Amino acid sequence: MRFYLASSFLFPRSFRMRLFALCFVATHIPLLAYAGWGAASGRLALPEFLLLLLATVVGMGIALYGIGAMLAPIHVAQGALATLEEGGTVAPLPDGSDDVIGSLLGSVNRAASAAESRMRTLDLAAKEDLLTGVRNRRGFIADVEDLLPAEQRGAIALLDLDRFKAVNDRFGHDEGDRVLRDFAARLSSELRRGDLVARWGGEEFAVLFRGATEEEAARVLARVGRRLIASPLIVCDGQALTFSAGICRFGGEALDDSIACADKALYEAKETGRNRIVRANQGGQPALPLG
Ligand code: GH3
Ligand code: MG
Ligand code: MG
Repeated sequence: MRFYLASSFLFPRSFRMRLFALCFVATHIPLLAYAGWGAASGRLALPEFLLLLLATVVGMGIALYGIGAMLAPIHVAQGALATLEEGGTVAPLPDGSDDVIGSLLGSVNRAASAAESRMRTLDLAAKEDLLTGVRNRRGFIADVEDLLPAEQRGAIALLDLDRFKAVNDRFGHDEGDRVLRDFAARLSSELRRGDLVARWGGEEFAVLFRGATEEEAARVLARVGRRLIASPLIVCDGQALTFSAGICRFGGEALDDSIACADKALYEAKETGRNRIVRANQGGQPALPLG
């Protein structure tokens, strides 16, 4: 390390050039010794000198090429580490021999796979709602964006628990949390495998019914609503907990537009008495009450 640091005045930005310089000096020592001895003794023979010069140049060429090639794995490892530092992913580096370079490549591979698995865990955590275990708003948006633009048909629903504040007030926040968790589990269990569910915030949930019409989505939610009444998550002031929902078509347009449209329908469901599902753009058909 001391020699490495002490020699850094030579080509401070290029380790390769420093090695080349070292190699250049080392391979010329026999030639310089012969030239010095020849000059001092007056016995310098030109053919021998030229032969030695040629051998030195060839030797130096081989040494420079060899050093350049042997440095390649270090450059590959350095490039991979730089990519990891920028948050990118790297393909596994080839295995080296059982030497210091092989050990360096192995360490970079292990660091890369540890960093990638940490990033995956963090990414999942950032998209998950800690209380309920379903996706959070960020995760839902990311999942929907992953589906676009292929997803051409579907329905978006926004659900809001009715008079949930009263649950907290009467039973306490912890019991409110338990109800939110159970509601998320109940809702998820009623959906098909490909459908997406998320806690949109507070006591509001979002669902993407993939490939479904608004009517089909309303039917699924009506079933969830009926089951909430038949087997309540909690009974508050003599009434089983219910929800209101707004549903809007999804496909082709921006997610924001569908969400705004579902939110408007949800508002209507609340305004017209709660415990009901309203489909946007129904053209005057009555909202579908749950129970
Ligand atoms: P509405 O039928 O109009 O929706 O009435 P609401 O009482 O459900 O609506 P409001 O917006 O007045 O209250 C929502 C409540 O949800 C208030 C808030 O304390 C509760 N809440 C939001 N997030 C959480 C949470 O993470 N845990 C618990 N326990 N309660 C929450
Ligand atoms: Mg709300
Ligand atoms: Mg509410």
